[in-house]
Amino acid sequence: MGLPAGAPVLLWFRQDLRLIDNPALAAAVAAGRPVIPVFVLDEHAAGRWAPGGAARWWLHVSLAALAGALADRGSRLVLRRGRAIDAIPHLVEETGAVAVHVSRLYEPWARASDAAVAAALKRRGVAIHGANAALLFEPWTVRTQAGGPFGVYTPFSRACLAAAPPPRPLAAPAHIPQPERLPPSESLDDWGLLPTSPDWAGGLRATWRPGEDGAQARLERFLARGLEDYDTDRNRPDRDATSGLSPHLHWGEISPRQVWHAAEAAGAPRRRGTETFLKELLWREFSYHLLWHNPDMPEQPLKEAFRNFPWRNDPPALRAWQRGRTGYPIVDAGMRQLWRTGWMHNRVRMIVASFLIKHLLIPWQEGEAWFWDTLVDADLASNSASWQWVAGCGADAAPYFRIFNPVLQGRKFDPEGAYVRRWVPELAHLPAAHIHAPWEAPPIELQDAGVTLGRSYPHPIVDHAAARARALAALESIAQHRGFR
Ligand SMILES: Cc1cc2nc3c(=O)[nH]c(=O)nc-3n(C[C@H](O)[C@H](O)[C@H](O)COP(=O)(O)OP(=O)(O)OC[C@H]3O[C@@H](n4cnc5c(N)ncnc54)[C@H](O)[C@@H]3O)c2cc1C
Repeated sequence: MGLPAGAPVLLWFRQDLRLIDNPALAAAVAAGRPVIPVFVLDEHAAGRWAPGGAARWWLHVSLAALAGALADRGSRLVLRRGRAIDAIPHLVEETGAVAVHVSRLYEPWARASDAAVAAALKRRGVAIHGANAALLFEPWTVRTQAGGPFGVYTPFSRACLAAAPPPRPLAAPAHIPQPERLPPSESLDDWGLLPTSPDWAGGLRATWRPGEDGAQARLERFLARGLEDYDTDRNRPDRDATSGLSPHLHWGEISPRQVWHAAEAAGAPRRRGTETFLKELLWREFSYHLLWHNPDMPEQPLKEAFRNFPWRNDPPALRAWQRGRTGYPIVDAGMRQLWRTGWMHNRVRMIVASFLIKHLLIPWQEGEAWFWDTLVDADLASNSASWQWVAGCGADAAPYFRIFNPVLQGRKFDPEGAYVRRWVPELAHLPAAHIHAPWEAPPIELQDAGVTLGRSYPHPIVDHAAARARALAALESIAQHRGFR
């Protein structure tokens, strides 16, 4: 029996909020039937990994942008809230849709939910077609010579670079065929994704333009700056040298294929910066590879011995870290940049993460959870892989005994103190020589700069040398356990 003529297909948007290079959209249009674009806000399936506060703000603005772009092409975004396992089969019945087109997700919760949705659709005789919108290389396509998954980044990236270049991006469809009648939509404003009382999103609004157009503009601005100095400048939080594409990539407002090909085209003939940038995109791919093959990664250390690590429970120290009041200027600058803008420079992410884990001995999962709530680019794969990497308990991790000295890191990567001055304004008048260690400044210099330690800016909450010794002793205590190396 053939499919009913004129019956529509559903296009189920998720973390692919764009029209250009969206293979699920292209396949839906190619089906030659009316297309019903839907977004389901499923706050149950992800459990504790449902979008955090900053990500919810982003999602609201991005969905509004997507709805506008669809309207420009004669279509309309249908919004539904509820479990995908209920909402998608229900929409199929409501509209008589004969197929569902969707971009694949790789998070463990999504794998479970998607399997249930596929089974429910199958029982109704409706096919679900998955597409790869989010990755250059899906996790199961990159294998070691022995056929297994990679646990180390460098050979993983080599295997990716040796593979065929990622496919060229697809153009956005000029027109999206509409059914005679679209199902009713909920109102985005009723979803409560935006913060109210208080509205803390002012810094986010001032920094970001969520949506496909904002993503394209970021990419163009980044490439116009040139990639020649990316290799060195990417480590400098005082310079605007990285792309800022991470939240756009997370929500799929731009595809990694678009970024890859645009960077390659713009980067020649100065290859080094381009190559480093492409390798950063491969860190994202590696994180997804790890998450796919280690679905416990967001909760459990990949190195088993770390389950016995003598972590401390220290709520006041955790709060000082979250609020940017540790007394270490580079740490506090990073945490305040995060609070205000929903983003933090990668070098500083490494410094603040190391400080929480090693100086304070607070479990990496606490930092991971705080980042999850405050980052606009919060991404289950990149966040959990990076926290484990810094903690020393992940695949291919930085060795635990390598403990960043926050003063030396500050002096090296923010030599004039411009980054600290920007985010910790109470230290703005300290000279560069003292800005990363105000407690070492002569009293007269502090006075001239209007700094009173303990009043206008905190004393360091831990002493670096003592904290380092304590961290090494803690490490020693688990070194004999199985699964340490
Ligand atoms: C503790 C910690 C937590 C992190 N949490 C996240 C997170 O939740 N989401 C997230 O996207 N990134 C995370 N990162 C990785 C990295 O800090 C950000 O991707 C990067 O700072 C984003 O800025 P950008 O877009 O300007 O990067 P660029 O330098 O312009 O790099 C381009 C793109 O490559 C990818 N990328 C770069 N570095 C990494 C990396 N180390 N790991 C994975 N992907 C990378 C990102 O998608 C990024 O947008 C984390 C890093 C650390 C140390």
